[in-house]
Amino acid sequence: MPEQQPLVLRGGAFFESDSRTFVRGDVLCIDGRIVGLGEVEAPEGAEAIDCTGEYLIPGLIDCHVHISSSGDPAELTPGQRASLARRAWRTAEHARATLAGGVTTVRDLGAADRLNIDLARAVEEGDVEGPRVLAVGMGVTMSGGHGHGFIAREADGADEVRKAVREEIRAGARAIKLFASGGVLTPGVDPRSPAFTREELTAGVEEATKAFRTVAAHAQSTEGIKNAVAAGVSSIEHGVWLDEEAIAMMIERGTYLVPTLTAPYHIAHGADAGIPEYAVEKGQMVLEDHFASYERALEAGVKVAMGTDQGTPLNRPGENAQEAVRMADHGLSAGAALLAASGWAADLLKLNEETGRLRVGLAADIVRLTEDPLADIRCLTRPEAIAGVVKSGRPAGSTGGTI
Ligand SMILES: [Zn+2]
Repeated sequence: MPEQQPLVLRGGAFFESDSRTFVRGDVLCIDGRIVGLGEVEAPEGAEAIDCTGEYLIPGLIDCHVHISSSGDPAELTPGQRASLARRAWRTAEHARATLAGGVTTVRDLGAADRLNIDLARAVEEGDVEGPRVLAVGMGVTMSGGHGHGFIAREADGADEVRKAVREEIRAGARAIKLFASGGVLTPGVDPRSPAFTREELTAGVEEATKAFRTVAAHAQSTEGIKNAVAAGVSSIEHGVWLDEEAIAMMIERGTYLVPTLTAPYHIAHGADAGIPEYAVEKGQMVLEDHFASYERALEAGVKVAMGTDQGTPLNRPGENAQEAVRMADHGLSAGAALLAASGWAADLLKLNEETGRLRVGLAADIVRLTEDPLADIRCLTRPEAIAGVVKSGRPAGSTGGTI
């Protein structure tokens, strides 16, 4: 990439994560990092952006996407999968849209052909403009388990799980995804059923931890959640049926909940949009329990981070911030919802030394808003409220990606 011009954002107010307030002041970015906040002296030749009246927040982090999927319900129709090349081009467009929507970092929890790993490299090398991608490659699921033949590979028994995790890491995975229960979108799989055994999950977590990777567990059923927490995963994805014991286990171990409220919301409301009937029925079955489970977890003090499950039907790239709104609608304050979508998410992904807060030394990942998100968190979902997105000190749309 060409040498980077220093950037100064003048005249706005920036979100201070500790106090959860906006502080008036400028932001100076050099070599992709924040080097000054407040009163700053910009070096000669710096690009200055007038941010008068704007609210600057950390670039959003979505802990659960499938960025190679568009959210088009037709993707679920067997035999409809486009060629690898066409899916790669579409993935590049999804990455651009995601960044334009204010998301500067994603964790991709499973992609056919490991397109997520290739995207991570393409973004890093400047071929494609998009968010920083922490990719798992393929998820690991039991034979016939949720996600098989699509976003996950199959493994049975502790040794096979170990091998699968090692192979994903060899392929370039920077995090690991294990399936601890059934799910909504795989025909014939019941979300109330547990999947991998505790022994299999423990083997997978052990291998991932050895390689300094964190583990996300797809877990909807109560028993599946408990198996995953006991095995030591970092986050429970979905967490539809949390009971008191599961919540207590998560608090004791510091396990995060990434509730992905947006996924069942769209699936349950999407019959007219062509979502298959089996999925709509299961989506409706989980919806109320899912929201209630999230609310109980919040009340008890379980740590949460934002993840949309983008790529599930009607859950489109670039519309990721709707999840922060749902998390707020069901119990978080606006300030906490912002943190769940930034600082807390960075903590979960172990990227807190890299991004997630507006702090000197961290990457200059910044969203410029024309409205105050603490007054109305919904502004995150209004394209006209996003004045611009800066990733690693470069305004989006100016990085010269080849696509
Ligand atoms: Zn998912």
